[in-house]
Amino acid sequence: MPLTLYNTLTRRKEPFDPIEPGKVRMYVCGITAYNYFHVGNARAFVMFDVVRRYLMWRGYTVRYVQNFTDIDDKILKRALAEHTTMEAIAEKYIAAYFEDADRLNILRADAYPRATHTIDGIQRLIHELEDRHYAYAADGDVYYAVRQFADYGKLSGRKLEEMQAGASGRVDVEEDADKKKDPADFALWKAAKPGEPSWKSPWGAGRPGWHIECSAMVRDELGESIDIHAGGMDLTFPHHENEIAQSEAVTGKPLARYWLHNGFINMDGEKMSKSLGNFRLTRDLLTTYDPMAFRLFVLQAQYRKPIDFTADALDAAANGWKTLKEALQFGTQFTALPRWSTDTDALDQGTVDRFNEAMDDDINTPIALSVVFELAKLLSREGNQLVHQGKPDLSVDQLQPQWQTFTSLLNVLGLEAKPVSLVGTISQETVLTGDLTVSDSAIEALIQQRQEARQAKNWAESDRIRNELQAQGITLIDQKDGVTRWHRN
Ligand SMILES: [Zn+2]
Repeated sequence: MPLTLYNTLTRRKEPFDPIEPGKVRMYVCGITAYNYFHVGNARAFVMFDVVRRYLMWRGYTVRYVQNFTDIDDKILKRALAEHTTMEAIAEKYIAAYFEDADRLNILRADAYPRATHTIDGIQRLIHELEDRHYAYAADGDVYYAVRQFADYGKLSGRKLEEMQAGASGRVDVEEDADKKKDPADFALWKAAKPGEPSWKSPWGAGRPGWHIECSAMVRDELGESIDIHAGGMDLTFPHHENEIAQSEAVTGKPLARYWLHNGFINMDGEKMSKSLGNFRLTRDLLTTYDPMAFRLFVLQAQYRKPIDFTADALDAAANGWKTLKEALQFGTQFTALPRWSTDTDALDQGTVDRFNEAMDDDINTPIALSVVFELAKLLSREGNQLVHQGKPDLSVDQLQPQWQTFTSLLNVLGLEAKPVSLVGTISQETVLTGDLTVSDSAIEALIQQRQEARQAKNWAESDRIRNELQAQGITLIDQKDGVTRWHRN
């Protein structure tokens, strides 16, 4: 079965067939840099990262572009509130984006265009729209005349008659209502207000509207027609509808072959969104949960379905990640087996086929994950055999492809365990004879408890914890800098 993707534009699953064989050009709408991104945004970034990784796994060369909106009313508002500049706010949250996205193991894009670096491309596009009578200037602003574009509404399925005034996008405010010829028209260029950053233009000093940025950045970075354009479901209308209207009116070509949109994260049965104020910042969540547990939480639902954000669901994901991580940790022991090879690409083809079949069906990650969990179970069982019996049940020739498949598929899903630090690594003797009943995280937790006892000058408790660990074969070393290191004896 070929890879099929649900295309919002055609409202059905379609076989994936890129414009240029073997190559994929993909664009994902990025953040507006005025805050840390929320878990709803994180779902989109994680999901489309997985789509990208899967395309790479299937042999495609992917060029992946994600933008930063670094000029916007919200950024200006924040700058005003914090007595700083728009640039300072944008830089801060772009840097924060990378910190959080890196922790979620999201691959870096091939390019991160910014609105303020794309002013030429934006102005050129507006010019072309004006020449073709799709845009009109009005008192320093420029608007897109949606009635000129016959296909307007084809992505979202909305009819122009049904669209209400003010529905045309977040750059529009009441004050420009009298400048528009039609309430559904939307701004391509906004006249600068006093004190606001602005760029010179034939229409007067001003700044770009939100939608035109993406049309210009797609064109500059990827060309007139791309393979996949993706984002959260809330971007379908007006943002992506407007991108299509802008780009296709000028080029006469489809902006994107496949439009992918992920579902919402629900909070107490309601859609999570900034406008409802019930959103959770990814950064805050990651103080409680391992980034990989959150990644797993996202992948446990098919990307178009809504996810319920509850503590139970996150705890379940954290447990799931623990299971996968434990299976991963056995890998460090398998390497001690005779004839274990560290450079082999032998995979278990039957398992790979089952994984691919799930992913080919519109990226069905829950089914794909069930394949990965089966492998984790097998590897943990074999690892336990090795620890307790001195050798696994399977032969190295049988075990190796299972292990290789497990790590490869985890990589496709972007689920990665941090490298185990040298302190606390299991020695080869332990591998064959020892007992691994105390996990690394349990040791770290006990050390933390002991640290607190010491701060409270509760030396008895501190000693008790040290002795307890010693009895399990774990030695603590208190360093001069106050940090306690440990190793297994
Ligand atoms: Zn966009």
